[in-house]
Amino acid sequence: MQVTTTWRQHVRPAVDALEPYVWEMSSDEVAARYGVPADQVIRFDTNTSPFLPVNLSDTLAALAAQMPLNEYPDTSYGELVRAIVDYTGFPAEQVVVGCGADEVLDMIAKVFLDEGKRAVVTSPSYGMYVVLTETYGATPIAVPDRAGFERDLEAIAAAAADADLAWLCNPNNPTANLIPLDGLTWLIERVSCPIVVDEAYFEFSGVTAAELIARRPQVIVVRTLSKAFSLAGLRVGYALAAPDVAAMVNRVRPPNSVGTLSVALGAAAVRDLATMRERVRMILAEKPRFVEALRPHVAEIHPSATNFFCFRAHNSAAAVESLLKAGIVVRDVSSKLGLANCLRPTVRLPKENDRFVAALAGGS
Ligand code: PMP
Repeated sequence: MQVTTTWRQHVRPAVDALEPYVWEMSSDEVAARYGVPADQVIRFDTNTSPFLPVNLSDTLAALAAQMPLNEYPDTSYGELVRAIVDYTGFPAEQVVVGCGADEVLDMIAKVFLDEGKRAVVTSPSYGMYVVLTETYGATPIAVPDRAGFERDLEAIAAAAADADLAWLCNPNNPTANLIPLDGLTWLIERVSCPIVVDEAYFEFSGVTAAELIARRPQVIVVRTLSKAFSLAGLRVGYALAAPDVAAMVNRVRPPNSVGTLSVALGAAAVRDLATMRERVRMILAEKPRFVEALRPHVAEIHPSATNFFCFRAHNSAAAVESLLKAGIVVRDVSSKLGLANCLRPTVRLPKENDRFVAALAGGS
């Protein structure tokens, strides 16, 4: 006789109730629906680099010859941590490595959030902050942006007085707004709870809260190799934190979530700063050209401190459809607070950006 399954009643109510993170259509799906071959679909929705990683072939060849894939990676990710230490100037005891910034954010949520706790999120911002907050049973406290996508620093400070964690994305995804260092310093001096400063796009903005950690140990800076370092496919992220905070986050770190290949290639990429900086320079130089080419075809384009920007389309649904027909996927952020009709493209190669503009112009 089969026993009736009762798995559902054991699901944590917080997980049952949460709204999961949503991606745009996959390239395979675009191919199936719009007849554009999957390998020709251009992704403007992920804020990744249009450049393949370079100078990694020697590392790959050396690894391929004798890759110890039968063994676990060194759980301290020594080689990668040493590269991050040299890059950031922070000692190893202040670095926590994870499988992408997303896993680092998850570890931080695990440490600080629980039923009955509260986490400040600015709105709109990176969707994972609310997902993680709710996953751990805590309550997100939304602080809406002011006009022009400025973050409301006074309101964030006031909300944080009564919270267990604050999530701050700088520059902000999806608005591309940057809180400059003086504003960041002002805010961090007024917040006593742990505050995560997500600097996934730091290499493009040049502004960091890292130097504030020494004075304000509740600051946790989170970064990634997925954007400026061109390694989204390898999944490497890290946090910089005060030694005790880093040790606390490390208590919940899965022992081997970053693979051997990711550790080796991640370290090689972080050691090749010249390539990363040259690419950042190229993307930032291309951005105004892309923006100006797009301007005649859209209602409004917001200033950007990073490798993506947010624009208001005349009709976002029609724009998304025109782009998809041309095999172009853009991040549709039109359902977020204050972003009616807004889309968020990544700045890619000039010829790809031209295709974006042509597809939008054709359909506008
Ligand atoms: N934080 C922000 C603000 C992001 O935009 C992203 C990726 N879209 C992440 C974190 C996650 O990055 P990773 O690929 O390192 O997990």
